[in-house]
Amino acid sequence: MAYLDANATEPLRPEARAAVLAALDLVGNPSSVHAAGRAARRVLEDSRARIAARFGAERDGVVFTSGGTEADALALAALGAGRRIVIGATEHDAIRAAAPGAAILPVDREGVADLAGLDGLLAEGPALLCLMLANNETGTIQNLAEAAAICRRHGALLHVDAVQAAGRIKVDLRALGADSVAVSSHKLGGPKGAGALLLAGGRAVRPLIAGGGQERGWRGGTPALPAIAGFAAAAECQAPDLSGLRDAAERAAVEAGAVVLGGPLRLGNTTCLALPGVRAETQVIALDLAGVQVSAGAACSSGKVSRSHVLEAMGLGALAGEAIRVSLPWSASEADVLAFARAYREMAARLGKRAA
Ligand code: PLP
Repeated sequence: MAYLDANATEPLRPEARAAVLAALDLVGNPSSVHAAGRAARRVLEDSRARIAARFGAERDGVVFTSGGTEADALALAALGAGRRIVIGATEHDAIRAAAPGAAILPVDREGVADLAGLDGLLAEGPALLCLMLANNETGTIQNLAEAAAICRRHGALLHVDAVQAAGRIKVDLRALGADSVAVSSHKLGGPKGAGALLLAGGRAVRPLIAGGGQERGWRGGTPALPAIAGFAAAAECQAPDLSGLRDAAERAAVEAGAVVLGGPLRLGNTTCLALPGVRAETQVIALDLAGVQVSAGAACSSGKVSRSHVLEAMGLGALAGEAIRVSLPWSASEADVLAFARAYREMAARLGKRAA
């Protein structure tokens, strides 16, 4: 089996597994004042310090959440109140669903945000711009420095969804010039069930969940300590350079008739490949039967596969329903790429011909 769906979730890193197992044995609640509680709190605060250091945040600016979706929703609730919301056209549903009625910043055919109209969108009073660092379907990396400068000129806030970027390219809250950044444990080799919203400059946050006042009142509920400990361990792992393996997979697919979607500036582990005339779901099933696991557009929890809003926003027409995402995990090997190349060639020869 070749697992090439890292952007859906990365395999667990051994360092993260060890940290999870150690934290599972801690009996205390980090809010308790006794010794067992204090031991749990030490792990929680140590994890917070490590996440802060890894992503250029202050310790006090790290709010642990259940994952990227909650971090994005918290950012919108916390920073968006009373502000006009502007989001990139290729944002993840975690942002889109939390920002109904938002103004949309268009992208070009490579998925890069077109900043020409941003001045106009931010000029109408207090605003919050949500722009992702790297896209989950194409891997396209945005020019956030320019977007941040435009935001500063207008006194607008900037929230960056760095869920796919974290663990793959440098993510640094301060260097990005962002007001908040969302990261997620399972996208960087940690366990599922943890994430964080990183907040700049001691900003006060209105919680989505008030509860018992945990996380300095920013996020109620007993923190998922094992997941958080695994998150911190995974976040410290070095990212392998996967671009050589990715390029080899891409070359094999192109030789078999695929069209690469997205531009040159993208994550080294991701390629988005359209096979004209063949529905994305059909390709995913054919490859799965050959032991190669990839996804069609965004992986949805219900298992439904709809046309990708990301590829539609890029103006790709019918190709938007004919593209698969191949995303290499940190553990990818040459054998995975060979298995993919073989399966893709066989699939394209069988289905591509029928479509032609
Ligand atoms: N943002 C982006 C860009 C994503 O790719 C995802 C997950 O696919 C999320 C947010 C949501 O993260 P989580 O699965 O941790 O809730």
